[in-house]
Amino acid sequence: MSKAITRDELFNEIELSERIRNEGLYISPEVLATLDFEKETQEQIRACFDNNHETYTLSKLPTAVRLPSNYRIGVVYKHNAPYHIEKEDDAYVLYHEKELIDEVTFIEKPKYFNEKTSDGVKMNTIAQEVGKTKITVAYSNECALKDKGLDCKFCNINATKNNFADLQGISWKTAKQIAETTKEAYKEGYQRITITGGFIPERREVEYYIDVAEAIRDLTGLDDFGGTACIGAPADLEVIDKYKEAGYSAISSNMEIWDANIFIVSVINIFSLHVT
Ligand code: SF4
Repeated sequence: MSKAITRDELFNEIELSERIRNEGLYISPEVLATLDFEKETQEQIRACFDNNHETYTLSKLPTAVRLPSNYRIGVVYKHNAPYHIEKEDDAYVLYHEKELIDEVTFIEKPKYFNEKTSDGVKMNTIAQEVGKTKITVAYSNECALKDKGLDCKFCNINATKNNFADLQGISWKTAKQIAETTKEAYKEGYQRITITGGFIPERREVEYYIDVAEAIRDLTGLDDFGGTACIGAPADLEVIDKYKEAGYSAISSNMEIWDANIFIVSVINIFSLHVT
């Protein structure tokens, strides 16, 4: 049962979440060792980006914590962060330096995380959980723009692949693996899926996304499977109809990588939002 909070308290929790994202969160090896990643605590799978401030490979890291209100805050590891979590008796407590903020619990592990596809791949490397109802799949854990020297300077997808692909067993996903994982996740209540990933050579993504949609529809029996295709902005806008025909209910393109001028406008907008 979560604790009801006021609108102002919610704003405070959103601010706290953003502060932790920017300033980082430290969890000591001793506290990490008390977490049961096999059965209870959801671990971070770096299938696309690594959101931590540091490349941490000494042990598993939890995905996120919940405040008593049920508000979820992502774990963004930094060894010297002002925010830290301590274990006190049976409880975990969030601090900012010496100031106690609140008790927290760690986000629970979905059941499908421990299942395997029919070809033996752990489903948690295929799809990650991004909330109570949604999973996400990074079908390609690299971006081909790097080969042309055009990869975005703010993006760590290729570095994440170098650091975590072998360590966590992450590779290219087949349509069948994604469909099997989706079916398993939907059995426990997830309802929406985002398919994303870096650019693949020669922009062959359309055919791939359509294969994935067909496989999901065949295996789950759902015509509307709550799918979002996160795609690079297409040069030919008629391509968008193909995603709709395949069964996706939404597409999502990152505006900032559509065009260099749009990127600059996006940065200015974000900056003005932060200063007003
Ligand atoms: S296009 Fe996307 S995946 Fe590729 S480098 Fe840019 S942000 Fe990263």
